[in-house]
Amino acid sequence: MDLDFTEDEISRYSRHILLKEVGGTGQAKLRDARVLVVGAGGLGSPLLLYLAAAGVGTLGVVDDDAVELSNLQRQIAHTAERIGTSKAESAAAAARAINPGVRVEAHATRLSAANAPEMIAGYDIVCDGSDNFPTRFLLADACKLAGRTLVSAAVLRFEGQLSVFKPHEGGPCYRCLYPEAPPPGMVPSCAEAGVLGAVTGVMGTLQATEVLKEIMGIGESLAGRLLVWDALATRFRTIRLPRDPHCPLCGEAPRITDLSAHTHAAEPVCAV
Ligand SMILES: [Zn+2]
Repeated sequence: MDLDFTEDEISRYSRHILLKEVGGTGQAKLRDARVLVVGAGGLGSPLLLYLAAAGVGTLGVVDDDAVELSNLQRQIAHTAERIGTSKAESAAAAARAINPGVRVEAHATRLSAANAPEMIAGYDIVCDGSDNFPTRFLLADACKLAGRTLVSAAVLRFEGQLSVFKPHEGGPCYRCLYPEAPPPGMVPSCAEAGVLGAVTGVMGTLQATEVLKEIMGIGESLAGRLLVWDALATRFRTIRLPRDPHCPLCGEAPRITDLSAHTHAAEPVCAV
């Protein structure tokens, strides 16, 4: 690993390098890392900005939507001036503005069964910041099949959830928690049920923290645990999440061995 830093890098990352758990080695791991953020919305905004600020060397952001006025209540990577422009490009511009030293790849496209394998193969860690079940399950399956760590956050109303899925290292996968997508209409989207903007900010920032920990291999991984936050009660809980031997994706007799079930998936209903 290249441990040489420019004077600018030493200055920019000095508060990281001071941490004994990070140091020059941790900062060099961040610079070498490639992270894909799916969704440039309420979760993806703080997630992408903190990863860029932290010096994660290569960042990808996927979103096929355009910035809308109703996004700005929580999607802090975007600006009023950029309404109507690509959300992937807008978020990438915000990340580059914070840290011109990192490479930000904007993918202004919808993640699909056709493009997911190639896109995911280009990154080490994948973050789910989407808020629709077709994308969540597609991403869970694609990451498991590609052996990529998935850092997944979700928000609705005043609640957030977060976990890390590393079935390739023996931990549970997303389908150990949610074996199948709920029928359409069973779970409201945030467009229907609402979400407090700051809740997406907290969850996206927690997600960024777990990504940085995973890259540097420090602390206790959230793999095998689910963090649940009730903002109204101001209560955090961590629930143990065991691997399910009957899981359709990572169990002893998996039914899901490719992405063919996602080929005709329904259109996603909402971006956070
Ligand atoms: Zn599983």
